[in-house]
Amino acid sequence: MNYDVIIVGAGPGGIFAAYELTKRKPEIKVAVFETGHSLENRKCPIDGKKIKSCISCKTCSIMSGFGGAGAFSDGKYNITNDFGGTLHEFIGKKEAIELMEYVDELNMQYGGEGTKMYSTAGTHLKKICLQNKLNLLEARVRHLGTDKNYIVLQNFYNTLKNKVAFYFDTPVSDIRKKEDGFIVSAKNGEHFCKDCIISVGRSGSSWMENLCKKLDIPTKSNRVDIGVRVELPAEIFSALTDELYESKIVYRTEKFEDNVRTFCMNPNGIVVNENTNGIVTVNGHSFEDPKRKTKNTNFALLVAKHFSDPFKDSNGYAESIARLSNMLGGGVIVQRFGDLIRGRRSTEKRVAENVTIPTLSATPGDLSLVLPKRILDGIIEMIYALDKIAPGTANDDTLLYGVEVKFYNMQVEIDNDLQTKLKGLYVIGDGSGVTHSLSHASASGIYVARKITE
Ligand SMILES: Cc1cc2nc3c(=O)[nH]c(=O)nc-3n(C[C@H](O)[C@H](O)[C@H](O)COP(=O)(O)OP(=O)(O)OC[C@H]3O[C@@H](n4cnc5c(N)ncnc54)[C@H](O)[C@@H]3O)c2cc1C
Repeated sequence: MNYDVIIVGAGPGGIFAAYELTKRKPEIKVAVFETGHSLENRKCPIDGKKIKSCISCKTCSIMSGFGGAGAFSDGKYNITNDFGGTLHEFIGKKEAIELMEYVDELNMQYGGEGTKMYSTAGTHLKKICLQNKLNLLEARVRHLGTDKNYIVLQNFYNTLKNKVAFYFDTPVSDIRKKEDGFIVSAKNGEHFCKDCIISVGRSGSSWMENLCKKLDIPTKSNRVDIGVRVELPAEIFSALTDELYESKIVYRTEKFEDNVRTFCMNPNGIVVNENTNGIVTVNGHSFEDPKRKTKNTNFALLVAKHFSDPFKDSNGYAESIARLSNMLGGGVIVQRFGDLIRGRRSTEKRVAENVTIPTLSATPGDLSLVLPKRILDGIIEMIYALDKIAPGTANDDTLLYGVEVKFYNMQVEIDNDLQTKLKGLYVIGDGSGVTHSLSHASASGIYVARKITE
């Protein structure tokens, strides 16, 4: 088949690119190829009864399919240049914010209306954080919630399905440059397009790396974030979460001067498993629906690790640590903070007697056997720092799940149009290594669609 534009990947980057292309040029012929299933066929087999942990499906329904990695996420769209990616370095701060605001408007039109926008602007919490060596980053955040996020995706699909050719369960295996465009090889044959947008996210990172090697597109990689997911009674963090919902707080450790940050905060949420290339790590989300809310809040504490020459495989480093936790715990390990501090493992009995009841069934164990000292020391320091602004954070009963890893795709060399050195080949979203969030990935899709239709 011949298309004007082929989009590889139906995550937020790909969806918003398809939306903007067809909105600006209704006559344009667009196809989207997606490894995963259509939205209604995405179903993780873990039901907590028959199947309790990850069985490594051929295509992971959590990470792949219409909606991408964000489909069952908490749907937190942060409007900020302070975190979530470095799109602003390519397109400018003002335009990046305008595009994120436009994405927010569309989300509201497509089913997100009535959801709350939180903001750090003018909050007294900024001062309290600073007085305790904590830096609260500036942002507005729209919290769609997992259920509303799903409805928004459904509505986008219903609008797009008549304008765009969607091929689900159809991974793209190769892209070749031709004089006037590209040949895209997929399970269902070869297709031609003038412009190609690659938006393969984190799950497509190895494929992206191989393609860059083959097409001689330069890449670089040197960062990974490693840490734990903290779970505690929602009341302990309510002063922050009631006002801000999600607070991104950075702490600089005294011992190593490393940055530790809070990430992906889920008030009244649940802790979940995440499978990346067969390695089980931990994540979390929460629901907008009051019936599905829990009594706990969870968030990640992550330590950023930047490596310098000669070491290049930062993701491999984090994968080895995650594999170690899988080896010891058969999956994710959970430990009470009190047990960690006393230098002993948590046991089934101690977890069963704990005040904070875990929302994820994980193996009680000892995180000090898994996490490198430097990282663990940083996490412990930050828990004590957070205890000053949210007393109770450092209680014995606070649960730590490990490990949580934030993998960063290697950064693909692209210009300010997000175009590779091959004219007409664009790389957007998390697959480019430039974005790491729903809002930045979505904004990058809109940006490239506008460049192409210009
Ligand atoms: C559990 C969870 C919770 C999250 N919560 C939040 C949150 O609240 N807020 C936030 O900002 N971010 C969150 N994130 C991160 C967010 O989901 C991502 O930043 C975002 O989805 C990136 O969008 P993307 O389009 O670049 O990539 P993705 O969403 O990863 O989509 C890429 C798509 O490409 C497909 N693909 C890969 N390779 C190929 C191939 N060769 N051929 C065809 N298709 C391919 C994949 O199957 C996938 O569907 C969360 C992530 C997870 C896993």
